[in-house]
Amino acid sequence: MVAFGHTAAGTIVGVITYQYLGSGDLTTGLLAAGITGVASHYIGDSMPHGHFFKSSEFRDKILLILAVDVIVPVIFLLGTAFYTQKSYIEILYIIFGISGAQLPDVLDSLIKLGVIKSNKFFDNEMRFHHWTHWHGTGDKALMFSFGDIWQILLFVLAVLVLIKS
Ligand SMILES: [Zn+2]
Ligand SMILES: [Zn+2]
Repeated sequence: MVAFGHTAAGTIVGVITYQYLGSGDLTTGLLAAGITGVASHYIGDSMPHGHFFKSSEFRDKILLILAVDVIVPVIFLLGTAFYTQKSYIEILYIIFGISGAQLPDVLDSLIKLGVIKSNKFFDNEMRFHHWTHWHGTGDKALMFSFGDIWQILLFVLAVLVLIKS
């Protein structure tokens, strides 16, 4: 999925894990939100989806993508959480859900940019990550098109979950 799709899924994960675990131990709850967020990434990637750029354009477009696809949607959803007067604990759950949901792509990006070195664990993660992306990876990845309306609807759903919960 594009980053805003993962952010939307992570937000919904944060709200739901908070509803189930919010009254219990904070560390356990945040860990659960983070891990479920990571799981939501692989599930999201396994649905055929388009992207805003080809993997060969990654280096040229990374800053634009970071701003438009990552930072703006994250600020918008966290802003909605503040605006709808979620507790600080629930907002922490949402932040952990979003962070988990972004983690596989963040890892992928940092390795591609050479910021961190790959190792056996990361290699295996990358293989699994690309396997969930069965509909095409690298330069064969699908481009964002009308069929990606569901990624936008998922974002709308995240906003509704925040407003209605
Ligand atoms: Zn993808
Ligand atoms: Zn991914």
